[in-house]
Amino acid sequence: MTASWDDSYTATGPRPWDIGRPQPAFGRLAEAGLLSGEVLDSGCGTGEQALLAAAHGAKVTGIDGAPTAIEQARRKSAERGLPARFEVGDVLDLGALGLEFDTIIDSGVFHVFSDSDRLRYVASLAAVLRPGGTCYLMCFSDRQPGEFGPRRVSQDELRAAFSDGWRVESIVADTFDVNPIEGNTRAAAWLATIRR
Ligand code: SAH
Repeated sequence: MTASWDDSYTATGPRPWDIGRPQPAFGRLAEAGLLSGEVLDSGCGTGEQALLAAAHGAKVTGIDGAPTAIEQARRKSAERGLPARFEVGDVLDLGALGLEFDTIIDSGVFHVFSDSDRLRYVASLAAVLRPGGTCYLMCFSDRQPGEFGPRRVSQDELRAAFSDGWRVESIVADTFDVNPIEGNTRAAAWLATIRR
């Protein structure tokens, strides 16, 4: 984890992903009752997905490497009266938490990693997700044209990353809402449902 992620949260001007509300895709999962039990929001940023799950009754932990993001998430949690635990940590080493979860949320985190860090990340998720647990992962899709934003991910890459000890139940086309980047307010995404 480098300082640059924290810099992105202390910089003035909007971060494209930090939209101040949950992603609609995760809103639908929450409405369907799927963000339940002990939930980890991995790379939670300022906590919108975590607080969404908390509002639906989940016991939530949000982890992010950027202290400024965690501070903001804690503030939102207090302001909204939605209890959740937010801690600074490395999502490439989640086992260090010594915790286990029923459900993991990844909104826009898998797609930030290099090929080698992807392997570490998937092993890190496996270390904290209970057998039978589910990871809901949304990443930029290779169907999104242009160069702005993070690395594009293909369905094959997702399946390859989660090939060992996981079952990829579905990968469906969805969208990220983003603060305008190069005139775009939405970006093509894959929403993957992946079980251990
Ligand atoms: N899930 C949030 C943030 C997505 S942006 C949202 O939907 O708004 C990617 C996030 O991953 C950033 O907040 C960044 O700080 C975090 N991140 C990147 N690498 C990390 C690492 N190794 N450990 C913990 N957090 C990391």
